[in-house]
Amino acid sequence: MFDINKVVRDNVKTLIPYSCARDEFKGKTGIFMDANESPYGKLNRYPDPYQNDLKTSVSRIKGIPEENIFLGNGSDEIIDLSYRIFCKPGVDKALTFFPSYGMYEVSAAINDVRLIRIPLNTDFQIDTGELDPCLKDPELKLIFICSPNNPTGNTMDSSKMEYIISNFSGMVLIDEAYIDFSGTQSFKNKIGKYPNLIVMQTFSKAFGLAAVRVGMAFTNPDIVQYFNKMKPPYNISIINQKAVQKKLMQFEEVNKQVDKIKHERERLTQNLQKLTIIEKVFPSDANFLLVRTKNADLIYNKLVKEKIIVRNRSKIVQGCIRITIGKRKENNKLIKNLKKIKL
Ligand SMILES: *Cc1c(COP(=O)(O)O)cnc(C)c1O
Repeated sequence: MFDINKVVRDNVKTLIPYSCARDEFKGKTGIFMDANESPYGKLNRYPDPYQNDLKTSVSRIKGIPEENIFLGNGSDEIIDLSYRIFCKPGVDKALTFFPSYGMYEVSAAINDVRLIRIPLNTDFQIDTGELDPCLKDPELKLIFICSPNNPTGNTMDSSKMEYIISNFSGMVLIDEAYIDFSGTQSFKNKIGKYPNLIVMQTFSKAFGLAAVRVGMAFTNPDIVQYFNKMKPPYNISIINQKAVQKKLMQFEEVNKQVDKIKHERERLTQNLQKLTIIEKVFPSDANFLLVRTKNADLIYNKLVKEKIIVRNRSKIVQGCIRITIGKRKENNKLIKNLKKIKL
């Protein structure tokens, strides 16, 4: 039922990508006089456009073959490229759930793609009632599912996600930015089963490399090739590639930090639940907590005065603030200051 030729835009199918010097000659040694680089300096050479060394390391850590990996300048580049590969501006549609990650909407607007927004139910889960008729819409090309979801923190029901992937003939992108903090299985091992699945992860959260801007997409080789065709030739700088390589050598330390964050998430939850200004702490599979308060604006402003910055999400989820889990000391300071707030 899935036909890649029906979901990729015609201009993308016929596009002849820019062929850079590093595409034509792939050797690593020699006298390089092919790319108008300076012969001087340490950062004078263009980076590998396909980040092959980095992909070898990512492949090893994630257990996904290199041909199934695309690396973007942050997940945000992968989101943008997905719109540009699959959705014809002004004609095709994409679909997101609400509340979810804001970039899906911004990127749709930038690319002039109409967006269908389906509200999550009261448990922040996907309701198939409103979704089902959309799955048949021939103009709908791309569905974003964020799991664990930002800003709600919950993982989406996996049978619902599989239902969507198998009953939709367009692309499904599952954004797993927070998967390392969750006890649930990644969908990355299902890309062989589903030709219309893209699973996205990032080095910005659990790996502590938000400044470095590297996101991962795991998908079928045909789709990886479309991403490669569409991206700017040197989308990830050599400095950033090396920063990720270095971090991947400290994988054990990353795991320890993730464990600490998960432990603090539990402790912070329990402490928050004791406070009368807090109505509900939503269960979280991520490195943040969504918290319903009696007065989000007031609490937000009082915390800012103490130089503690949380995210006021009350315009998106009634009465809610989103709190990123900090270090133990930072979390203690937050609790201490919340205790002082009287409504
Ligand atoms: C933080 C976050 C990302 C990460 O984006 P990068 O561009 O890789 O930093 C992706 N998706 C969601 C839902 C996020 O919250």
